[in-house]
Amino acid sequence: MKRYLFIMSLIALLGACAKKEGKFDRADGTAAITVASLENHLKILASDAFMGRMPFTEGEQKTIAYLQEQFKNLGLESGNGSSYLQEVPMVEITTTAAPVMEVKSAKKKFTLEGLKDYVIWTQRTDPTTEVKDTELVFAGFGIVAPEYNWNDYEGLDVKDKVVVVLVNDPGFGAEDVSLFKGNTMTYYGRWTYKFEEAARQGARGILIIHDDVPAGYGFWVVQNSWNASKLYLDTRGKDLYFSAFTGWVSQPAAKKLFEEAGIDWASTVSAARKPGFKAVPMKLSITTSLVVKAKYDKSHNVIGKITGAKQPDEYIIYSTHWDHLGIGKPDEKGDTIYNGALDNASGTAGMLELIKAFKNMENKPNRTVVFLAVTAEEQGLYGSEYYAQNPVYPREKTVANINMDGINPYGRMKDIVVVGIGQSDLEDYLDAEAKAVGRYTSPEPNPVAGYYFRSDHFNFAKVGIPALYTNTGIDHHEKGADYGKQLQDEYVSKYYHKPSDEYDTSRWNLEGAAEDLQLLFNVGKKLAFETSWPQWKKGSEFKSTREQYMPKVN
Ligand SMILES: [Zn+2]
Repeated sequence: MKRYLFIMSLIALLGACAKKEGKFDRADGTAAITVASLENHLKILASDAFMGRMPFTEGEQKTIAYLQEQFKNLGLESGNGSSYLQEVPMVEITTTAAPVMEVKSAKKKFTLEGLKDYVIWTQRTDPTTEVKDTELVFAGFGIVAPEYNWNDYEGLDVKDKVVVVLVNDPGFGAEDVSLFKGNTMTYYGRWTYKFEEAARQGARGILIIHDDVPAGYGFWVVQNSWNASKLYLDTRGKDLYFSAFTGWVSQPAAKKLFEEAGIDWASTVSAARKPGFKAVPMKLSITTSLVVKAKYDKSHNVIGKITGAKQPDEYIIYSTHWDHLGIGKPDEKGDTIYNGALDNASGTAGMLELIKAFKNMENKPNRTVVFLAVTAEEQGLYGSEYYAQNPVYPREKTVANINMDGINPYGRMKDIVVVGIGQSDLEDYLDAEAKAVGRYTSPEPNPVAGYYFRSDHFNFAKVGIPALYTNTGIDHHEKGADYGKQLQDEYVSKYYHKPSDEYDTSRWNLEGAAEDLQLLFNVGKKLAFETSWPQWKKGSEFKSTREQYMPKVN
């Protein structure tokens, strides 16, 4: 009897091993993704009990407890040694800026008014930060882009100077797609890039000249964030340079500065749009200061994995942010809980479905699949930035990142939107999987807004890891093309970052989300059975970063 059992189990074991000689099978595991269980996770994460999932609050405790429990129940291995958590040390900086900025030219003195004319913040944690009689220099767009042979800082020493730069990039409005991708925003056009570049150059401070159209929003959006407490990564003990201040100046105030400096606005700005532009010293100096309060705390990324059967040291990383805005200003109905159902209880619930699908596969993946639910996306993509700077799995061993931030709440769509089309080979994987089920991929409807730089995958891209980010399609099965675009515009005006972003059965239909998740599952699964490495496409601003540390592939 015993012997018989032994032989039987040996046969069963061999059978299992044979099955595990894995290869990509499109159907394997997909049935595990269901509308019912997706809805169940979403309802829980978006419920008032989770208090809007704000980092450092009881809402964080509940959320990370729920995710750890689900990761364990689904049979996921812990992703950070023996832990499912990665600590993310952060600092909350509250700045109070002096009410004015004094400006001195050769002939006279005048002041700019804080909030009305400019807004500034600091990332330095010293109790006070000041600039005194510091020179201004106009540095065009403040861009250093080797792939466009463009360097606004060429031959310029900006130590002890404040740089004044234009918003967006030289491609915007140029009607030339070969110049910084025309109207499609490149990372060089994002304000975050300009602040980072100014710090890299050692500038004492930076002011971006605001302009409604190329910025994509009014100066009031900048003013609304004035004096707010902001979260940053805690970088104590790291040798990083931050400018004394970063900020924005309104266009009327910038024109006044140019006038006082005796610099012609129109011709100088138009020269800055052309290659070979040389920075212009403004012969003006400024004085202002900031008082800082810093508060340190820790938030958490949640991380789990399925170890690969054949190439366990090669990684596919799915990411999604678990956090939202917490409890805040009441809306017109008196609701104070920012549930963030779509943003991003939905992506988090989607990740749990993907885990279930991978665990239900008959064939264990060859490569390791990592599931990373990050914190503090809403405050500035900090959980993913921390992971990218302190990776658990080396970047040169990380094949790809697939990010989810909001899943489709509108029912079945024929298409799925690729955000940042033309960036990497991953969109070809998605395209193939979409075609295989009679669907198609489409470019994002609003490429000017730079959405590729506005969710967590971007921090993977910045360190060179090819990253895929999709959005809900717009071609609705029953209601046709562009119906989805209408719904998305409605979402932005009625629900985005408001207490009304709630799970509502009358408004939501998750059938399309389940289909999108199956696509993202199949893209990751395909990669998990391959030996090849997807690349950045030619012209991507992340290609050179990847190639600097990867062995040459032929
Ligand atoms: Zn989000």
